[in-house]
Amino acid sequence: MPGSLRIGKVTGIDLYIHAGWLIILVLLTWSLAGDRFVQLAPTWTSGTYWITALITSLLFFVSVLTHELAHAWLTQAHGLKIARMTLFIFGGIEDLESPPRSVSSELQIALIGPCTNLLIAGLAYALALPFAGTGTPEEAVLDYLAFINLSLALLNLLPGFPLDGGRIVRAILWKSSGNYHQAARSATLAGQGCAYLLIVLGIGSFFFGYFFYGLWTIFIGWFLLSAAQATHMQALIQTTLHEVTVQRAMNVAAITVPANISLQKLVDEYFDPLQLSSAFVIQGATSPA
Ligand SMILES: [Zn+2]
Repeated sequence: MPGSLRIGKVTGIDLYIHAGWLIILVLLTWSLAGDRFVQLAPTWTSGTYWITALITSLLFFVSVLTHELAHAWLTQAHGLKIARMTLFIFGGIEDLESPPRSVSSELQIALIGPCTNLLIAGLAYALALPFAGTGTPEEAVLDYLAFINLSLALLNLLPGFPLDGGRIVRAILWKSSGNYHQAARSATLAGQGCAYLLIVLGIGSFFFGYFFYGLWTIFIGWFLLSAAQATHMQALIQTTLHEVTVQRAMNVAAITVPANISLQKLVDEYFDPLQLSSAFVIQGATSPA
């Protein structure tokens, strides 16, 4: 995936983050410190706003990472190998070394991501209860963690690949058509459709005065669009490799040249007029001088 940075290796999988994460980290910290937390607790010091916002942003990153590791764990438990994993704002893309084995394992692997976020949201909500109404940083962090994990679960269920909802669409299309590669292409096209919808919604919100909400939605749409386009390209290449035979790809009218001609003659009589870059040389064949 272009624009990704390698951050390490987890259970044998190369882990990458999309470079846009740095933008997200800045944007999220800024929007929490400058807007959300000010409304929640107007009396904090400026340092408290920024430190609480930074911790919250990092916990958001941990939530996305946990979501992805849950996918990776179940994928490996189903006997599939993952070559690398790239983290995006809403989740990640796993590069599988082979297509999923069955529709049911694909559905389970897709659903474990949003379920993990729902679990974290529930846990954060329960931990926040003793702090309810105190206006403390603990309440702010835990409340936001519950909110963002619920949002991640819902966002990931949108029906476009590479979101988990898109994997579910791919599994359903695969089951109904029996053609995995065609289902994969359709799911990535649905992903691009969802991305454009989010961008339009974001621009709309922006003009109706919801500045941070609009900006966020545009960013998420942009990330999704770039991921959906990349995976669509991947799906097209896989279809070509899978469905086009060697016979269709080979050059059946290969040009042969005798071994005894000069290089000048090879260029003048074969390469230039026939626009060739290579030709078979027949040893023993002769050309008239
Ligand atoms: Zn996921």
